Order: sequence, then C-alpha cells, then structure tokens
Amino acid sequence: MHSTIVVGGGLIGAAAARHLTRMGEEVALIAPEEPKDRQGHTGVFASHYDEGRITRILDPDAAWATTAARSIARYAEIEADSGIPFFSPAGFLYFKAAGSDALAMYDSVGTSLGAQFDRLDTAGLRGRFPYLSFPDDTAGLHEHETAGYVSPRKLAAAQIEAARRGGATLVRSPAVRVTPVTGGVEVETAEITLRGRRALVAAGGFTNAWGLVPKPLDLKVFARTVVLIRVEGAVLAELADMPSLVGAGAYLLPPIRYPDGQVYVKIGVGTDADERLETAADLDRWFKGTGSADNRAEFLEIITTLIPCLKGLDAVHTDTCVTSYSPHGLPMIDWLDDDHRIAVAVAGNGKGAKSSDDWGYAAALLVSGRDWDHPIAPDRLRAAYS
Ligand SMILES: Cc1cc2nc3c(=O)[nH]c(=O)nc-3n(C[C@H](O)[C@H](O)[C@H](O)COP(=O)(O)OP(=O)(O)OC[C@H]3O[C@@H](n4cnc5c(N)ncnc54)[C@H](O)[C@@H]3O)c2cc1C
Repeated sequence: MHSTIVVGGGLIGAAAARHLTRMGEEVALIAPEEPKDRQGHTGVFASHYDEGRITRILDPDAAWATTAARSIARYAEIEADSGIPFFSPAGFLYFKAAGSDALAMYDSVGTSLGAQFDRLDTAGLRGRFPYLSFPDDTAGLHEHETAGYVSPRKLAAAQIEAARRGGATLVRSPAVRVTPVTGGVEVETAEITLRGRRALVAAGGFTNAWGLVPKPLDLKVFARTVVLIRVEGAVLAELADMPSLVGAGAYLLPPIRYPDGQVYVKIGVGTDADERLETAADLDRWFKGTGSADNRAEFLEIITTLIPCLKGLDAVHTDTCVTSYSPHGLPMIDWLDDDHRIAVAVAGNGKGAKSSDDWGYAAALLVSGRDWDHPIAPDRLRAAYS
C-alpha cells in the first residue's frame, strides 16, 4: 500500500510527490502525459503545456512572494535531482504609473524579502529597454538573477523525474475515481485501482469537473487565451535581453524557443470577463479550440504598442489554457474529510507556476502529518466549497 497517492502530476502535484519522496514516504503519482494529438484526445489536459511562465520574487502579495522566493531557491536542487533544466534567469520587469499604489506594494514586499531589484524612472526604463515603448511618467522595478521564466512543461517533467528517482511509482493514465475505503483510499484509473493510506488531489482545473473530490470546491476555472508572435532575424536580435514583463495590463514572455523549433514572444491578460469553465465537456472544448478572437485582437494591440518592432509581423497564433482561482487568493491545501484520507492542493490563482515547488512542499507537510514547517499558516490555505 502506498502512503500517499498524488492525483495530478502538474506543477503543484508533482512538486508534492517529489517532496514526499524526500520525506521518505511511499508515493504513487498519477500523472497523465501531455496529449500528442489534442483534437483526438479523450482524457485530461493541463495548465503546464507551454514553454514560458514568469517567475519572480516581486509580487504585491507577501505570501506569493515568499513562496516564490523559497521555490526559486530550490530550482537548482530540482534541476540536479532530475537532470532536467527548466529555469532561464532572463529577469523580470514590473512597470506602472509612477507613484502608483501597486508599484509601492511590489517594492515594499520585495524589499522586505531582500529581493535584488533596481528602481527605474521613465528615463531609466527607456535607456535600459530601448525596444519597449513606455508612456510618460512610468516607473519600473527590475529583478535580476532570481527572476525570468521557467518552462512549465520541463518543470513538471523535472519534478516527476525527481519523484521517480526518489522511488515514486508513476501511473500515466487519469484517475476517474477517488474513494475512501476502510483504512485508506482507492484511486481508480481506466486500467488499475491503487490503494493508499491517503490521496492528495492536485488535478488543477479538472479537480471538480472530473469529480475527484468528495464535494465540489469553490474553484473558479477561467478560459485563458494567449497570443504568440514568431520572431526571428533582426527583431529577435533586438529583443535578445528582454525580461519577462508585467505591465500595460498584461503579462509578456520574452523570445522563447518552442518545440516546433521557432521562437515566440507571448502575451496574455486574463480577467474575470473570461469564460468560466465548469464541466469536463467545457474544458475539453476549450483546450481543443483556438481561444477568443476578441482577445487575439486586443492582445495584439497591447503588445505591438509596447514593443513597436513587432508591428506587422504576421506569424501570429493563439493557444488556450485555464487558470483556477480560490476565494482567498492562495491555493487550497487542506484535508477534505475528517478522517484525513483525501486532501487537495489546487488553485494556482493565475500565478501558481513560480511558487509551485513550495506549495507542493506545503501539501507534502500536510499529508505526511509532519510539523507545519512553512511560513504560510495552514488556516490561510483552507478548502472552500461552492
Ligand atoms: C496562459 C497561462 C499563463 C500563465 N502564466 C503564469 C506565469 O507567468 N507565472 C506563473 O507563476 N503562473 C502562470 N500561470 C499559472 C500556472 O500555470 C498554474 O497556476 C499552474 O500550472 C497550476 O498548477 P497545478 O498543479 O494546480 O495545475 P496543472 O499545472 O494544470 O496540473 C494539474 C495536473 O493534473 C493532471 N490531471 C488532471 N486531471 C487528472 C485526473 N483525472 N487524473 C490524474 N491527473 C489529472 C493534469 O494532467 C495536470 O498535470 C499561467 C497559466 C496559464 C493558463
């Protein structure tokens, strides 16, 4: 019997599995692979099928900044444990109207955690990033070595590989049922039934829709569209030192090479106006689609205004993804039953990648029953129900 069955080998679940194996637990990790043919796929999808997620300590929320800092500090360990590199320290730039409250919050949280960053006024921004077009009276914070982007695809692979090397049993087909039984829990896939003392459900946007938790969580799953512009030649050279960015109401990833061999700059926004996805059919339709045409037009306008050298490039495409939100803004990492047989670790709140290793650590502490050796109090991570 496994001590913990982790359902979901995404950024949080695979991190939890790695930490559990380091704690000496006997772990089974149910981690379906990314589909090779999206249209013909009949299983689940995930929010880590991409090559760029911004990572940074700077954040207006101290809990997110703290968990990001702790995760970033462990990136080298995860890369060494797995042999899979995933972090590119391209830096991170946050910019906003000079004197704005948001800028002050990023600054004070970053300062309190000892993050290394520069404060730039409009002239400083224009001098440092000549390829970006900033409005007058803009100020920015530029974080260096600790920030940039991770490949979420490779980060998930690295966590899974490190867990496997640590002794975890890997199952590659999705769980269809998680059932409490006498003395533990059973997790069924189409092929096998696993038995463990407890299960940790970390199935991201699929957690409610696939009925993996005893009762539905208050988890808002939003349909997100991103726009990617292919860059090469002189434009690629001009953007060679571009950092990851948050500003102009959007987030942007610098030029990154994708599995098709091409290099793309990416933009996304993500607001409450985006469609809510509730059912397995909703999720399936969204992941097989091309996203919102309105978003495509709107995001292209933002990115070409901010980065004028991208104007006129016509190799543009969209991709789809989902983000999952909790009511309290932090992941829900909690037991779902009085007997402590089923726990959950879900809700990246649109920025779960950067902090995922540390949320996985918190989940591993919870399910292993160890002392709560984590800076975020467990009562801030409670499960909420709709
Ligand atoms: C477009 C976009 C841009 C983003 N940008 C950023 C960013 O710049 N920085 C940042 O920090 N975060 C970013 N995020 C958020 C980040 O990607 C998520 O917060 C993070 O992936 C959440 O991790 P997770 O483990 O909860 O979910 P996921 O990473 O989606 O993992 C869930 C896992 O569960 C598995 N699963 C689902 N159903 C089952 C089942 N039935 N049985 C077994 N396994 C199952 C899936 O295969 C998947 O591997 C972005 C998200 C999106 C969509």
